[in-house]
Amino acid sequence: MAGCRYLPDSPFDSAFTMNRPGYAFPGMPAPLARMVETLSSLPGIGPKTALRLSLSLLHKSAPEVEQMAAALTELHQSLDFCKRCGCFSEQGHCGICDNVRRDTGTVCVVEQPVDVLMLERGGHFSGHYHVLHGRLSPVDGIGPEQIRLASLDARVAEGNVRELILATSATVDGEATAHFIARRYQTSDVKVSRIARGVPEGGELEYMDEFTLNRALDQRVVWERN
Ligand SMILES: [Zn+2]
Repeated sequence: MAGCRYLPDSPFDSAFTMNRPGYAFPGMPAPLARMVETLSSLPGIGPKTALRLSLSLLHKSAPEVEQMAAALTELHQSLDFCKRCGCFSEQGHCGICDNVRRDTGTVCVVEQPVDVLMLERGGHFSGHYHVLHGRLSPVDGIGPEQIRLASLDARVAEGNVRELILATSATVDGEATAHFIARRYQTSDVKVSRIARGVPEGGELEYMDEFTLNRALDQRVVWERN
């Protein structure tokens, strides 16, 4: 790729060129190359998309750019995790844990803070959450000590929790994590449930895989008579 090197004096851009030989843009100015490299590190953003976004940013006004830079700084400096549930929080406890109108007896266990945001968007759940910050994955060396199980034990030990709703992902590791937690509390008084899986809202059966359809049949619910 020596002939495609466009910024020979910069170690940063040299690395960029060598790591992504298909996206070496001859003549690209260093600031633009750095922005493309930075954006490319984000999930789901490839070098071409990164270039499009960088060019879009180039057309923003100075106040808009400053606002974006300030938002990025604030994201890192102000956002923390709730000491109790592990969800996003700006200070100490999150708004969900501090909301006295929510049911402390029902705790929904999820893998990541973003899962709480997704579930809250539905506006249907009025209990509390517990974020594991991961899931069991022996292949990656993630065992029970690497996820927030000790703090879940502590919450259950307080005696207020009646039900744990296991909302870990429907993946092999997510299922293994749910099984592990279910076994962990099987001798306690806490009811343990698992979120249902099946046909999504608006889903057509002909496009469903056989595993989803089998699970939907297994977890069918009785039609409520009016
Ligand atoms: Zn919280």
